[in-house]
Amino acid sequence: MMKTMKAAVLHKIGHPLVIEDIPVPEPGYGDVLIKVRACGVCHSDLHAVEGDWTPLPNLPLIPGHEATGHVAKLGPGVDSLKVGDIVGVPWMYSACGHCEFCLSGMETICKSAEATGYSKPGGYAEYMIAPAAFVGRIPETADLFELAPILCAGVTTYRGLKRTGARPGQWLAVVGIGGLGHIAVQYARAMGLRVAAVDVADDKLELARSLGAEVMVNAKDEDPAQAIQTKIGGAHAAVVTAIATRAFEQAVMMLRPAGTVSYIGLPGGKSDEIRTSISAIVNGELSVRGSNVGTRLDLGEAIAFAAKGLVTAKIRKAPLIAINAVFDEMRQGKIVGRVVLDLGTGE
Ligand SMILES: [Zn+2]
Ligand SMILES: [Zn+2]
Repeated sequence: MMKTMKAAVLHKIGHPLVIEDIPVPEPGYGDVLIKVRACGVCHSDLHAVEGDWTPLPNLPLIPGHEATGHVAKLGPGVDSLKVGDIVGVPWMYSACGHCEFCLSGMETICKSAEATGYSKPGGYAEYMIAPAAFVGRIPETADLFELAPILCAGVTTYRGLKRTGARPGQWLAVVGIGGLGHIAVQYARAMGLRVAAVDVADDKLELARSLGAEVMVNAKDEDPAQAIQTKIGGAHAAVVTAIATRAFEQAVMMLRPAGTVSYIGLPGGKSDEIRTSISAIVNGELSVRGSNVGTRLDLGEAIAFAAKGLVTAKIRKAPLIAINAVFDEMRQGKIVGRVVLDLGTGE
């Protein structure tokens, strides 16, 4: 008899996910079968389900790209992992490995990359397949629920920080203290940076303060760029995790000369354009960079910080059957931190 697993499946864009019993997949050459323990629910999953991006995801789709679990079976040709190893599967399911970007440490922008829970089946299931070469290694002592959000939210903010080039002792402005922002503050502190937090909500600024931010600016009460210039003489670097386009514009003006801002958040949908000062960028020799998820090296480093307890995502557990309700909460902006799906206790 064929072995089956529970999975949350999208059959039609914009429809609810359906919890189904489907066959456990077989790992192909170079792949491993993973018994999923936990999978974070990222906003990108909702974008996938609602068909917000082109190209559309491959249907039927099992979403989920913050999966953690253990290797249950090796496909042919796998010698880098063994059964029982604890691993995590990020958004970057695979990259080609031989294009100019892959060869230059920029596999995050490989044009032939596949995306977990989008072009390939993801972690909203009891089992999933992933290429052995692209999974993240997780120490055995780690909490697989707390670690799940590191696979996307964690590595994404971590790479964004790295791409600012900020060094220990320098000031970093974190613009937007939400799901990504509260993690950015922690990575920044762990890396020896000084943090100025910018948000429009006092409770989020309070969270930033409790995580080690030294300067808090409420962009509702004052011009945040002016405030950062006045209070700390401008930031050496900034990361933007907000979704309001205004925040992306303001972040440029928060920099001190020679500063770098890294854009991590995506406004999504209609408003994707910004206006900024060319003379500020030219005269101040400012850099504006984009940052898209993370390489395998970024992922390993991001996991190491979290596994040491230096970075902790705020999480809440939910069973797989609750996924449509979780999406509803997400649509209403009601989720604080990350919801992580519990895929069972294993075999
Ligand atoms: Zn994500
Ligand atoms: Zn490539």
